[in-house]
Amino acid sequence: MRTAIKAGWIVGHEKGAHTLIRNGVLVYEGNKIIHVGQTFEGRVDETLDATGKLLAPGFIDTHVHSGHRASHRLITDTGRPIYYGQPFLEISVPKEGKQVIGDVRYLKHGDAGADAAVRLNATFTVAELLRNGVTTFVEFGSQLVIQDALLAEVTRLGTRAYLAPGYDCGRWVGDEKGRLKRVVNEQLGLDGLRTALEWIERNDGAAGGRIKGILVPREVETSTIEVLRRTVEAADRLNLPMATHAAYSVIEFYETVREHMMTPIELLDSLGMLRPTLNIGHGNFVSDTPNLNYSVKRDLEMMGGARVSISHCPINIARRARTLNDWQKYREAGINISLGSDTYPRDMIMNMRTASYMGKVMAHSYFAATGGEVFEAATLGGAKSVGREDLGRLAPGALADMIIIDLSGRDSLRYGPVRDPVKSVVECGVGDDVDTVIVDGKIVMQGGKIPGVDFGALRAEAQAAGEKVWATLPDWDPLGRDAESACPWCYPMAQ
Ligand SMILES: [Zn+2]
Repeated sequence: MRTAIKAGWIVGHEKGAHTLIRNGVLVYEGNKIIHVGQTFEGRVDETLDATGKLLAPGFIDTHVHSGHRASHRLITDTGRPIYYGQPFLEISVPKEGKQVIGDVRYLKHGDAGADAAVRLNATFTVAELLRNGVTTFVEFGSQLVIQDALLAEVTRLGTRAYLAPGYDCGRWVGDEKGRLKRVVNEQLGLDGLRTALEWIERNDGAAGGRIKGILVPREVETSTIEVLRRTVEAADRLNLPMATHAAYSVIEFYETVREHMMTPIELLDSLGMLRPTLNIGHGNFVSDTPNLNYSVKRDLEMMGGARVSISHCPINIARRARTLNDWQKYREAGINISLGSDTYPRDMIMNMRTASYMGKVMAHSYFAATGGEVFEAATLGGAKSVGREDLGRLAPGALADMIIIDLSGRDSLRYGPVRDPVKSVVECGVGDDVDTVIVDGKIVMQGGKIPGVDFGALRAEAQAAGEKVWATLPDWDPLGRDAESACPWCYPMAQ
């Protein structure tokens, strides 16, 4: 079966870089692209009309913590300053001996209501990503039950994902005064690595090759040297990509320097982990970051020398008063920047816009973080981070993973006149402008609709789950606060 798509604009690909084609045609056969150009003379079985639209490679979201993230709504415009803006400490650190209620990542098969909660988590994640034009995503280390559910939903809804249970050597908890306390357990990490490897052995290549494995020791400061060392060994032996949060938090930077007398990046370098297929979660607190006041500034040079990848999550970190310092310096150092949504919204277009604007502000230059660069990060950057040359581009031989973006803004005035389609999407677009999604040569979303997903029902289920998360905060919060004292309403409730 040969399909042609005639589009007003196409993001094509030549010699390793994106190009623009005006009024072009793309042809794919089975799951592979066979032609991209101005015209096509051969036979085709069907033609899709994308006049007035942009045909582009599907987005690759390299930093997904799955779920509807209701808990994160408790830190909007607020939080505990002792965490220096690190969101997971705010919403995932329970009082010692307690469990975060409503967080499905800590449920096990057989717990009351677990199966429905886990299924909602997976469906919401995969559907939200798909609605926003993400054709491949990397899950950043959720537990085994979550990975099993994601595997089922990715298989059902037809997208592509890098999955496997993450692992660590003990989480943070809040002590009797609400202070941060680490519970270290190396065996937990070693067992977790074994579970991840077994999961990957069972599932790598599932769903016709759309599911791939990835090794995720969750954070550098919650992993022991031994666990990281065995992770690199396994990655080398099985040719697997890796991902971990590193250089992502003031506390983690300080803890790593205190424990190892090295920065997080120096530690990863000493273990031979720095490489293009290591996805460093955030990587924004490096020794070169001026306000860390670290006097030897070699991290960016080491990262660039190794062509390591970072997953930059511009919206998620900007909400916590942080950003990348700065985009232009990372690019110039040779670091591969990919983009992630991290939590919410899973809107790659809004993330590109935030990356571009913050990148300009931090570089004090409007030449920095251009529309072309952030679009490259959202496509080719992601592909490079998992070592793929058949994703993130529209070129003969690449997999037929692509999106059609409606440049009328779904019949609104938001875009105004469109001169350069990529710049227009970055400046004026939102994820909802993605009209059609094709993965592996199959249409998995058309006209904004995903077969088998009822958005209204999903919203209602997520709202109900959120109400439960917000109501049960006093049961596990280290300070015993209720939702209103932890996160006051934006205005007083009218009497
Ligand atoms: Zn993360």
